[in-house]
Amino acid sequence: MSELERMYATLGVSKNVYRFGEAALASLRERFAAIDERAEFNQAKVLAAMQKHRVSAACFAATTGYGYNDVGRDTLERVYADCFHTEAALVRPQITCGTHALAVALSANLLPGDELLSPVGRPYDTLEEVIGIRESACSLAEYGVSYAEEALLPDGGFDYEGIRRAIGPKTKLITIQRSKGYATRPTFSVAQIGELIAFCKSVKPDVLCMVDNCYGEFVETIEPSDVGADMVVGSLIKNPGGGLAPIGGYICGTRACVERCAYRLSAPGLGQEVGANLGLMTALYQGFFLAPTVTAGALKGAIFAATLYERLGFTVVPRAGETRHDIIQCVELGSEAAMRAFCLGIQAAAPVDSYVTPLPWDMPGYEHPVIMAAGAFIQGSSIELSADGPIRPPYAVYFQGGLTWAHAKLGVLLSLQKLADAGLARIPGEA
Ligand SMILES: *Cc1c(COP(=O)(O)O)cnc(C)c1O
Repeated sequence: MSELERMYATLGVSKNVYRFGEAALASLRERFAAIDERAEFNQAKVLAAMQKHRVSAACFAATTGYGYNDVGRDTLERVYADCFHTEAALVRPQITCGTHALAVALSANLLPGDELLSPVGRPYDTLEEVIGIRESACSLAEYGVSYAEEALLPDGGFDYEGIRRAIGPKTKLITIQRSKGYATRPTFSVAQIGELIAFCKSVKPDVLCMVDNCYGEFVETIEPSDVGADMVVGSLIKNPGGGLAPIGGYICGTRACVERCAYRLSAPGLGQEVGANLGLMTALYQGFFLAPTVTAGALKGAIFAATLYERLGFTVVPRAGETRHDIIQCVELGSEAAMRAFCLGIQAAAPVDSYVTPLPWDMPGYEHPVIMAAGAFIQGSSIELSADGPIRPPYAVYFQGGLTWAHAKLGVLLSLQKLADAGLARIPGEA
């Protein structure tokens, strides 16, 4: 046994599982090198924006109260706008999560009588109540905003003819979710999103296009705002927070859209002028600075998981060999028991709460019970190593994150170990 094998054994990974992992890794060197190269580009992009806007120690000072003339907050928003190549950005700890950021972007830019269209099928679970697909107080539906949806084609492509028919005189805003979320459809590349936006604008030039960019930031060298999106929206406890941001969301986009978002978030007339930073600026800047590298580590973890589970005969989305457009790896495990075992392994690999057993629960905003494994420094952070999924067929677990590649690797190995221990997966060479 090598020193490393002994270390893994201490953490609960058997020699067999470890060696199975190493064999898979040998085939991934070239892809990992390409990921490192993209991270290098994105690191330079972030750095250049920070230098251009003269980030200084003064930006890290805490503000309280109204937060007028908050240099740190205003500069951070310019840095984000620069990286996403947009006119403006709203990046705030007052945006509590990704759903909140999306709800602000939608409700700020849709008025009674307008219609919202999703040309990529059903959006992320929590948006169903925001939109009013599932009835909820304060939904867009309650305010007289209607909703239309065009399903994807069976092969996961855009139904352009259907979309053309769905865009009508009331269609004001088109929402495009980049990542698959809790669905088993493919995640879209930025280039695909660009084609879809161009098509929608060719049908209706003044329609607004918003992209739910959750989990997609820094996976490619361009973002949806580089291909025509009027707004890109995401969460700071996913990729762009780099694992350090303790809360927050962002909306980058045209000045007109972002200004409305700021009016919605605070109050008409106040907009971006208020919102104290509460001392969180160091974490938000430093997290954004680390985000390209952190995202790269998470991406390697996703590809490693896909490779191992595919070799064992599980259906994985995306497939091991596919190009990546987000950090999520879906593994169809086929049973609740296997979902529990997988999540137990991820939990056992955590630096925090490694001793607890994840159980399914009725999470607010979700229709089915959800199981979640997360032992994170920032609660609920899914750029940290985590796995989750709704308890419903095909019993798919969504694996993501890992602040470092080494940690993501351990998580994947331990998930497999727990499945093997429960007799739910057979590792070649295992007795
Ligand atoms: C995570 C996520 C959201 C919602 O973000 P929360 O921070 O959990 O509210 C929305 N859309 C997609 C695609 C996501 O992955």
